[in-house]
Formats: sequence, structure tokens, C-alpha cells
Amino acid sequence: MADLGPDHTYELKLIFLRELAAGYGPAKTAYDQLRASGNLDKPQLDILRRFFHKLAGTAAAADLSMLGKLAGACETAAEAMIAGKFSLGRYAMQILGDGLTAVAGVLDGKTRSDPTKAAPPPATPPVRIAEGAPRILVVDDDAFGTQLAERVLSAAGFDVRSCLDSTLALQAMRDRAPDLVLLDVDMPKMDGFEVCSAMRKDPALHLIPIVFLTHHGDVERRVRGLTMGGSDYVQKPFDAGELVARVRSHLERAGEYRELTIRDGLTRCYTTEYFKARLDQELARAKRYKNKLVLGLLDIDGFKRINDSYGHAAGDAVLSRLSLLITNSLRASDVVARYAGDEFAFLLLEAEGPDAMAACNRLRETVVRTAFELPETLGGGLRVTTTVSIGLTAYREGDSAHDFLLRADGSLFEAKQQGRNRVLLAP
Ligand code: GH3
Ligand code: MG
Repeated sequence: MADLGPDHTYELKLIFLRELAAGYGPAKTAYDQLRASGNLDKPQLDILRRFFHKLAGTAAAADLSMLGKLAGACETAAEAMIAGKFSLGRYAMQILGDGLTAVAGVLDGKTRSDPTKAAPPPATPPVRIAEGAPRILVVDDDAFGTQLAERVLSAAGFDVRSCLDSTLALQAMRDRAPDLVLLDVDMPKMDGFEVCSAMRKDPALHLIPIVFLTHHGDVERRVRGLTMGGSDYVQKPFDAGELVARVRSHLERAGEYRELTIRDGLTRCYTTEYFKARLDQELARAKRYKNKLVLGLLDIDGFKRINDSYGHAAGDAVLSRLSLLITNSLRASDVVARYAGDEFAFLLLEAEGPDAMAACNRLRETVVRTAFELPETLGGGLRVTTTVSIGLTAYREGDSAHDFLLRADGSLFEAKQQGRNRVLLAP
């Protein structure tokens, strides 16, 4: 049993029993019809297969592992009958019947000693969601399995939501993109493979890691899931520690990959695309919380001369070194991007015009003092000097991204006009 503490165990058992009772009726009806007709009726067998499949994956988590094992055997028998590998004879029906009898016994025991009367329902502590916690979407038609995964992952600090209907999962992801999806394979209407395949074709979702939930012995399905673009799988009934460890590991990989895609290859500063998206976010925040914000545009003076005199690779080396000077001059929380060729853009968070002017003037002076040494391969020991011009503007209420950028660009243009090697703040 996953270690969730006594309160959670109790609550999960109640959910489990409720789900079991709901599934039992249709399964028993299907069984009775099969017995009465004596025909290998695949839809009825499939109802039984699904019922036992769910049970096999969840019973152990409700401290009923023997019932889970029996359900696993019943699922295998039903599957074999559907595939025509096992005829619908007396023995086959006996296996399924024994499974249903065991379930009825558990439900009967529950009615005799109703746990809701035996003990007061425990207070569930509110799950705290840290701001910016990784978002996980659990897609599983089984309410018990979903609750269990939610508890485990919420306790580990993730922001967890769930979707019981797989046909609604894609829309849920588009409305609020998760950082990882925990996806059950066996679901009615749209199974996990179909959801995975649709995600991999959708540009907005195709990079999200998918961890499949499979059952013990499902080797074929696991291979299929991984081949279809799944990142990993976790076996049901899962171990809480293993689930959290796998989820964390995939989130870390995805985070590293994302960093690569939003950084410029030469300077390691953010890309223009990322910068624009961040600019929109920071503007929204400045508007909502009345935060201070300064936007800067920096352009190298006479950069063409460096390229023309020493070659393009030398120009690259200067761009790369300069990006370090910029990031070292600003705060770690500030956002620096390579905006175009020899132009950098930056957002100074929680900064006002005069502070930004002071910081940028220090940066400008550092650039003046710096001799950019070219690599050995490019003329050995040659040192290049240059200057930069910077245009700044502080956020004004009602600014759109376009207004903000236009004003900073105007200041940069003015700095160039006034003779370069200077910092100007928009009036
Ligand atoms: P100004 O003072 O007016 O800015 O003069 P400038 O010579 O710097 O002119 P401008 O900013 O228009 O020139 C940018 C040059 O940067 C033109 C282009 O060839 C060069 N460039 C753009 N991207 C790269 C790059 O990735 N590497 C190198 N080495 N050069 C680049
Ligand atoms: Mg330039």
C-alpha cells in the first residue's frame, strides 16, 4: 500500500468500495447473461474483462491485494476467451464466477460493518499548491486510481488535476497545458494510445512527457506505448515512491530540453520568441500588481567593422563574450535575450528608470574597458574593443508590448544619433 498516512488510507478505501459496488452490478448481469445463453458473447465478456482489469490495478492500494490477484486471473481468462484462446466452458465460467463471489464477499462485509459508521470520516488536510509547482494531469477513467495518484503526487508538491473522461483530456490540456500527463492505457471511448497519438500530433502538446499507467504483465502494451511516443510507464498497482521518482525524473529532462529550445545557440541568452512571450507575461504582471518594469535594447556600435576586419567568427566571439558582460551586469532574475544580429533586449524586473540608467551605464563602461580577446584560431592574441548604445524605457500604465518596444527602440535610435556609446532613457 502506498504510504499516504492513515487518513488517506481510510478515505481511499471508501472510494474504492464505492467504485467496486458501482461496477459489480453490470459485471454480474453480464456474467448471468453469459451463463444463461452459453454463447461466447464478446461485448458481455468485455464488460467482465474491464471490471476485473480495474480491480486488478487498484485492489492492492486499498489493502486487498489477494482480491487484486484473483481479479488479475479473471481478467486474463476473459481476455483469452475474447481472443478465442479459451472456450466458454464450465471451468472458464467458474473462474469468473469465483472472482465475482469474492467481490460480493468484500461488498457484503462492507455492508455489515459500514466503515462510515465505524469511524468518523477523517478531516482531509487541504492540499497546498506551491505557486509554480509543476502541473500534472492524470487521465484515468477509474476514479479510485485517479484519486490515489492525485494524493500521492499532491503530497509530493505537484499541482495535480484529473480527467476521468479521456475524450475531454485533450481539451483540458489545451485549456491549461500540463507539464506532464499520467495516462491510463485501458479506457473506454478513447484509450491511452489514442490520446498519446493525438498529443504527439498537436504542436501545443507534442513535447509534454507522457507516463503510461499499465498493468503487471502488459509487456506488449508497454512497448506499444513507448513506441507511440510515451516517455515511460508505471505499473498498477504503483508504488508511491516509484511514481514520484519517475515523474520527477521526466520533469527534469523536459525542463532541460525546454531550456535548450528557448536559448540562443551562440550567446546562451533567451531567444527573441521567448523574450516576446515573457514580455507579455511581465507586462500583464506589471499591470495587475503595479510592478515596476524597465525594458532595454542594446546594440553594438560599428559591429560590421569587427566582422569586416577580423571575420565573422571573430564577430561571433565578441557577441558571445559581450552576452556574459550583460548578464553579469544585471540581476539574475532579469531577462536577457539576443534580439537580433548584434542587438540584445532585456527586462529589468522591479526596477525604475534611474536605477536602470545607473546599471546600464556601468555596463557601458565595462564594455569600453574590455579588450575582447579573439580565440587562438582567429589571429592569436588579437584584442578587439568596441562600444554599445542602449535605449531604455520604464513601463507606463496602459502600455502594450508594441508601445513599450517602440519607445525603447526610439531611445536606442536617439542614442545612436547622438554619437553612440551612450545610454538614453525615454523621456
Ligand atoms: P551601428 O553602430 O549603426 O549599429 O553599426 P553596425 O555596424 O553595428 O550596424 P548594424 O547593427 O546594422 O550591423 C549588424 C551586423 O551584425 C550586420 C550583420 O552582418 C552582423 N551580424 C548579424 N548576426 C550576426 C552573427 O550571428 N554573427 C556575426 N559575426 N555577425 C552578425
Ligand atoms: Mg550595431
